[in-house]
Amino acid sequence: MDASEEKDPTLARIVVVGGGYGGLFTAMGLAGAGAVTLISNEDHFLHAPLLYEYMSGEVEAWHIAPPYRELLDERIKFVQGAVTDVDFDKREVTVAGRVRRLAYDYLVLAVGGITNFWGVEGAEQNTLPFRKIRHADDLRQRMIATLDRIQPDAAPQDARRAATFVVVGGGASGVELATKMSDLLRDAFGRRGLKGEPRVALVEMSKEIVPGMESDLRAAIEKALAEKRVEVYTETRVIAVGPNAVVFEHAGEHQTIETSGTVWTAGVRVNPLVEKLNVEKTRQGLIVVEPSLQVRGRAGVFALGDIAYLPDVQPMLAGTAQLAYQQSRVAAANVQALIDGSVPSAGHFQELGEAVSLGTDDAAVLTAGHVISGQLARQARFALYTMRLPTWQQRLRVGAAWFFGGKTPRPLGL
Ligand SMILES: Cc1cc2nc3c(=O)[nH]c(=O)nc-3n(C[C@H](O)[C@H](O)[C@H](O)COP(=O)(O)OP(=O)(O)OC[C@H]3O[C@@H](n4cnc5c(N)ncnc54)[C@H](O)[C@@H]3O)c2cc1C
Repeated sequence: MDASEEKDPTLARIVVVGGGYGGLFTAMGLAGAGAVTLISNEDHFLHAPLLYEYMSGEVEAWHIAPPYRELLDERIKFVQGAVTDVDFDKREVTVAGRVRRLAYDYLVLAVGGITNFWGVEGAEQNTLPFRKIRHADDLRQRMIATLDRIQPDAAPQDARRAATFVVVGGGASGVELATKMSDLLRDAFGRRGLKGEPRVALVEMSKEIVPGMESDLRAAIEKALAEKRVEVYTETRVIAVGPNAVVFEHAGEHQTIETSGTVWTAGVRVNPLVEKLNVEKTRQGLIVVEPSLQVRGRAGVFALGDIAYLPDVQPMLAGTAQLAYQQSRVAAANVQALIDGSVPSAGHFQELGEAVSLGTDDAAVLTAGHVISGQLARQARFALYTMRLPTWQQRLRVGAAWFFGGKTPRPLGL
């Protein structure tokens, strides 16, 4: 059934593609403004900044990945499916597996990014990406299976070799993941009575980890990495990945590390749907938008989040959840403006601060130019992200669950 056919023909048909920070919040902001349809290829939203905590068992799937059907009321129709094309002349989107197309008067594109393997040999086949709930499940399962294979009486060096993990990419995501993995694996070594300690290596191509981050925050991160015994390799490039090994290049020298798992957090590229679209794009493939988030030369079409580029904003803001969230408010207001026959207005977007999880007992938060770390920062980060959950009901339920139930990690395999 074509969703648009079920709607009142006098209402503006608003189609939002992508149910992440950009799309979901835009659709919710437009509830009641017309016949709103949200199309997404997953059945749930993902609060990605807490995916590390989901992997470690500090939060549960229902906290961070609520199904759309629980979040949306009857004013928004949800269609699960992948949009494969947009016909801007006919004003229709094609959804995979559907015979007919969905027609729109206003279209909001927010399909986000996908993992970028940069063409590194074997990376796509042999590494674990980390962007979805199932990726976190796979990584956790890989760590448990690795630990299960280690004999209880294994010599320390053998246990360490068997429990070696490499995280590729020393941005915030790589740091958050490496510290969590190290805490979980070291805890499991203790619980299982294994000798020695596991090995987690973090590999970054640039001169320093978390490139571009404020220096006090970097200092807090470096301290935590050292305390959690994460080995950091900077100015090191991964040149090939096999099923059980990673090959690096540093200062012209090649080195191979045998691994039980390699996790890839080294880049994001735009969604393949965007590559297909006939719209103005940057060299990186981002859609060029006006300050109102309207797509240049395409009437009634908006783009936001990780796929959008605002030429008028310098320096360029990184693709983050906080930016997509801010943009969703502007996109919703400007679709409404077009419906009302008024002129869309320019958005003003800003960096709101940084919050980095550092293992299962620590975090670092940059707020108003100051860095706080430790348990206080960890609690502040949870509080901050609770406030960013999509609905008040969910914020209250999750906030209460954390307050009364705690947020202790779930040990690996026990
Ligand atoms: C592990 C992780 C941790 C992060 N931590 C932080 C953080 O701490 N702070 C921060 O600010 N940012 C963080 N980010 C980045 C942040 O999540 C993104 O910048 C943000 O989600 C971008 O929002 P978006 O709406 O553009 O895309 P997304 O949130 O990625 O949403 C895109 C949506 O489109 C859907 N979709 C994709 N293709 C199609 C298609 N063809 N048809 C239909 N639907 C489709 C997807 O399933 C998804 O629901 C993190 C990202 C990850 C992966």
